[in-house]
Amino acid sequence: MRLSDRAKDVSDKNMSFAERIYLPAIATGLGVTIKHFFKKKVTIQYPEVQRPVSPNFRGLHVLKRDDEGRERCTACGLCALSCPAEAISMVAEERKKGEEHLYREEKYAAVYEINMLRCIFCGFCEEACPKQAIYLQSDKMAPAFYGREEVIYGKDRLLESKDKTRPTDGPKRRLTATDTYIDPIAVGYNRQLKK
Ligand code: SF4
Ligand code: SF4
Repeated sequence: MRLSDRAKDVSDKNMSFAERIYLPAIATGLGVTIKHFFKKKVTIQYPEVQRPVSPNFRGLHVLKRDDEGRERCTACGLCALSCPAEAISMVAEERKKGEEHLYREEKYAAVYEINMLRCIFCGFCEEACPKQAIYLQSDKMAPAFYGREEVIYGKDRLLESKDKTRPTDGPKRRLTATDTYIDPIAVGYNRQLKK
C-alpha cells in the first residue's frame, strides 16, 4: 500500500554512453547557471544598501527625551516586566535637586540596558511604557556585531541625542555586580547581578 503517490521506483538499468561521460549533465548545469546571469539580482549590498521596510517595522530602540531635552524614562520597570525575552535591565535613582533640567520625573534610570541577543523586537516594551519613553525605530536596524560585549546596549547607545546631530549622548555607566536592579522575574528591585 502506498501512502502517497510521491514514491519513485528506483531503476538499476545501465547508464548510457552520454550519462557515463557526464558532459551533457555538466552542460545542462552550466546552462542553469548562465540563465541566472541575466536575471534581476535578488541580493543587495547590505548594509550600504538597505531594503525598504514597512512604516510599522520594529527596529533599534531609542530612549526619548521630551521637548525640553529631559529624559522621559522614570525607571518604572514596566518595559522590563513586559519583556518576554527578559532583555531589559535598569537601575533606578532619585532625581537630585538641580537635576530637574535633566530628568522629567523624580525617578530616572541611571543605568538602562537592553541585551540585543535576547531581544526579539516584539515591541511590548514600547506598548507598556506609560511615559512614551521607549520606541522601536522603523528606519534603523540593530547592526551586526562581532563580540558579545557589543550586544548590550546601554544609555550611551540608546538615549536620544539632545542636539540631533549625534545618534546618542547618554552616559556610559553599565550594570555592575553590586548594583540592585529591576528583576523582571521577582517583580521587584531585589536581585543583584551574578558575578
Ligand atoms: S522589543 Fe520585545 S524583546 Fe525586545 S526589549 Fe522590547 S519587549 Fe523585550
Ligand atoms: S522606558 Fe518607559 S516603561 Fe521602561 S522604565 Fe522607562 S518609563 Fe518605565
